[in-house]
Amino acid sequence: MDASKTSQFVVIPPPTVGVPIQGSESLFPVRRIFCVGRNYAEHAREMGANPDREPPFFFTKPADAIVTGGKDVLYPGATNNLHHEVELVIALGEGGSAIPKEDALHHVYGYAVGNDLTRRDLQAEAKKAGRPWDTAKGFDQSAPIAAISPVSVCGHINSGKISLSVNGALRQSGDVRDMIWSTEEIISCLSILFALQAGDLIFSGTPAGVGPLVPGDQVVAAIAGLTPLEHTLVC
Ligand code: MN
Repeated sequence: MDASKTSQFVVIPPPTVGVPIQGSESLFPVRRIFCVGRNYAEHAREMGANPDREPPFFFTKPADAIVTGGKDVLYPGATNNLHHEVELVIALGEGGSAIPKEDALHHVYGYAVGNDLTRRDLQAEAKKAGRPWDTAKGFDQSAPIAAISPVSVCGHINSGKISLSVNGALRQSGDVRDMIWSTEEIISCLSILFALQAGDLIFSGTPAGVGPLVPGDQVVAAIAGLTPLEHTLVC
């Protein structure tokens, strides 16, 4: 047997997912996508939860759920209630475990606007049955994201308007300063549960006003100081 062939893959390896960076030709390579649940009090209440009593909790999406460049998003199968969730996305430029809160911001490469697309009907069924959220949250094309702005350009985004409109009508509106768990706290908490690495993205939770999308809808999501995210739902 030819030893040089033992390192070959049996099928073509999937490509690394890259997110454009504002003002650069380079791409941000995505390793993992972590998401924070219920990080704005008004949204926690609209989902029937009590925001005062819950520590942060996390779920994930696969790296290849990312959609970049304003490309159309395919309306997924197996749902009749696809919801939008505009979120501040934190892009890590440096990893670590048990990162102290005071050091956490040094690990941030940049920030972007993302949409944590959710099959709300499957999520409701999963909650009721005590089952995982993967089919509700981690489906194909469930993570549209705009270009990442490096911290060196945009600074740290800890306040400012966050909003989402559908076909020109405002659906979600809030302020990043109303996040229950700050960027520092999220990174510190996550790094206890997982060894974080450069290339990790963290969707940091959505403000109130989540609602359904249908094919043909044009979504515009924005956070003050960042490149807006625009995409259309298609069949
Ligand atoms: Mn979310």
